[in-house]
Amino acid sequence: MNNAWTIEISRIFILTIVAILFGLVSGEWVLAILLTCFIYITWMLVQIRALERWIRLGAKNQLALDSSGIWQLIVQHIVYAQRKNKERKKRLSFMARRFEATIAALPEATIVINAHREIELTNHAAEEILGIEKRRDLGQRIDNLIRDPLLQKLIESDNTPEQVEMESPVDQHKTLSVTCVDFGEEQKLITARDISQRIAVHKLRKAFIANASHELRTPLTVITGYLELLESEPEMSDIVRKQITNASHQASRMQKILEDLLTLSKLEEKGYDKDSGNIVDMPSLIQKMVVDFEKTKAKGTHQINVEIDQTLQIKAVENELYSLCQNLLNNAVKYSPEGSTIKVCWQRKSDGYAYFSVTDNGEGVAPEHISRLTERFYRVNVNRSRQIGGTGLGLSIVKHILENHGGYLDIQSELGQGSTFTAYFPKYRISELEVHKIS
Ligand code: ADP
Repeated sequence: MNNAWTIEISRIFILTIVAILFGLVSGEWVLAILLTCFIYITWMLVQIRALERWIRLGAKNQLALDSSGIWQLIVQHIVYAQRKNKERKKRLSFMARRFEATIAALPEATIVINAHREIELTNHAAEEILGIEKRRDLGQRIDNLIRDPLLQKLIESDNTPEQVEMESPVDQHKTLSVTCVDFGEEQKLITARDISQRIAVHKLRKAFIANASHELRTPLTVITGYLELLESEPEMSDIVRKQITNASHQASRMQKILEDLLTLSKLEEKGYDKDSGNIVDMPSLIQKMVVDFEKTKAKGTHQINVEIDQTLQIKAVENELYSLCQNLLNNAVKYSPEGSTIKVCWQRKSDGYAYFSVTDNGEGVAPEHISRLTERFYRVNVNRSRQIGGTGLGLSIVKHILENHGGYLDIQSELGQGSTFTAYFPKYRISELEVHKIS
């Protein structure tokens, strides 16, 4: 048994003996018992009072009551719990200081807001690019300080790690990339970084490509014209004719690359527009494309099976849509053997998306190449693509057209088995009339 309890029981034992002796001597047993209980309870009350006073004065170790028995044990427990608490507090405040120091040292503007959107933490970078000053703005609502609707929307959005680009509130020449993630208990962590330089370089690169393509187009048209003229010259040796034909072929290829580069620049320039285009009769467009294809290609190279939802129309830029479908069909033809079957689909998915897909059973693509196919000039086999007249820009154009329409490209392929390229269009692009008709 604990020593403190032994002392306490000994005390009760001694008091009981005293009470018995008193009872024996005086014969007043009731008085003896009452007196003994009174002494013990009074002593207990004195101890409780001392304990209460000690706790009230902050339960400081040095003031701990000078007692023994269970009272000493209670004091020991309180002192131990207090020491533990102090250590935990110290550890927590150390961690909080370290967290604050980490946030302060971050090169990105970092702000922590609570459930009421009040600023709880911020750093120096936030002062520089967002104009949030630690001393002045702590505790203020962020939407009162930065009134950009893009930021409001970002904060309102659920736990999706979204990203928006917005103008810096302190310098309109700066563009910021801002993210917001849920953090702690109903807190949000907002980070922002200056991406003006990256945007400027990107713009410069785009402008350079567009200008270079534009500048090269005219001289190249002249060269192609002269080469065609030379080709038709009757008095020419076979060797020279062959060389001129080759040069003419290369010049046409260059022209095609320039055309594709210009198309890409225009698509990039346009960007995403929710309302772009008009209602396009997609079933007719696909039929026309297949007929055009069968006219231009020697009949019988490939069998094209079409599976079209005749009621499905979408709002889109018609010539871009045609180019997209044509690119995917041409690729299927280029990369599958003659005589094979190509399946073209225009349908609706259960989640509401409309999709145009082209399936071939050609050479397919190994998994490590699939994610890179939409990069400019990325080709699995450069020589082969050149031989069959590829520019390496077709899928990049397809991707940009889809992005501008709010859609996306999905590629499923197996090496040696074939591929399916699917262009998905969002529900809101499907014509109202048809949605009504279908539902
Ligand atoms: P290219 O002009 O070379 O066809 P694309 O951008 O259209 O350029 O395609 C990029 C690359 O993707 C092609 O070089 C080819 O390697 C691969 N590819 C595209 N479509 C298919 C397909 N249907 N089957 C197999 N590979 C394909």
